[in-house]
Amino acid sequence: MKHSKTILTFVFFLVLSVGSLQARSLRVVTTVPDLKDIAEKIGGEQVSVSSLLSGNQDPHFIEPRPSMVARVRRADLFIVIGMELDVWAFSLIDAARNRNITPGESGYLNASARIEKLDVPEPGTRLDASKGHVHPSGNPHYNLDPLNGVVVAETIASRLSELRPEYADYFESNLERFTEEARRVTEEISEALAKYENISMIAYHESWEYFAERFGIEIAGTLEPLPGVSPTSRHLSRMVRTAEDENVDFIIQASFYDQRPANFVSRQTGLPVVVAPAYVGGMEGADDYFAMFRLIQAKIVEALGR
Ligand SMILES: [Zn+2]
Repeated sequence: MKHSKTILTFVFFLVLSVGSLQARSLRVVTTVPDLKDIAEKIGGEQVSVSSLLSGNQDPHFIEPRPSMVARVRRADLFIVIGMELDVWAFSLIDAARNRNITPGESGYLNASARIEKLDVPEPGTRLDASKGHVHPSGNPHYNLDPLNGVVVAETIASRLSELRPEYADYFESNLERFTEEARRVTEEISEALAKYENISMIAYHESWEYFAERFGIEIAGTLEPLPGVSPTSRHLSRMVRTAEDENVDFIIQASFYDQRPANFVSRQTGLPVVVAPAYVGGMEGADDYFAMFRLIQAKIVEALGR
């Protein structure tokens, strides 16, 4: 009798623990907030997601903090942008000692895996770090094309389905909804920009190549002389001439960059400066991935209308 009571108690706790295992959502950690937003939209109530960075932080230059290590240590899934944008994530992985989230394991996901990458250097190109080249594996700012968001969403959905096969249909239907919304926002932007011909812009950094490629915008130059190198006055003077020679319409920059270089060129040329979110939450109103694009669109249209 006493024995069967022990067994009953054991079975009771077994049922309880299996039940709570199933109820627990997957802990997902991402480096940037766009990945968080997409993971939440695909994972729904099956995930609890946090982003290490806010949309107002420059992901190229991040000092990993102990609090970040603690979050990565508890993660079931760690999603990075890859292409060496968030290369600092590897030091977090090393420090976290969580085998599941090391590259090659099911808890590590490089969101760039299926992206059609731009500006990938030819094999054998010599990359000189002293020149401040922060894009040695190609341009990592693929998040700024809403249809690349779909590619990322597909990548995340298939991983979540591996981790939680019983919810594969649920992730798939969330992916369908995401894809529809991404196509809608892409059409909206295309329609809004179709009223203008030969749109040309100068960007602070090479953040907008995928956006420009998607929407047929010319990038006449960057305020940075090289990606990751702060603007010099000599280079800014060159950009003033470029603005005049190439009929540039506006200057665009992410919210976290110094605005003085753009303001300098603006004073010399009369061009409007578009300060836009480069990541979700980068500015007020960029509350999710789609709101971010609608805000970028509104700001560009406003500048073109001037
Ligand atoms: Zn960059």
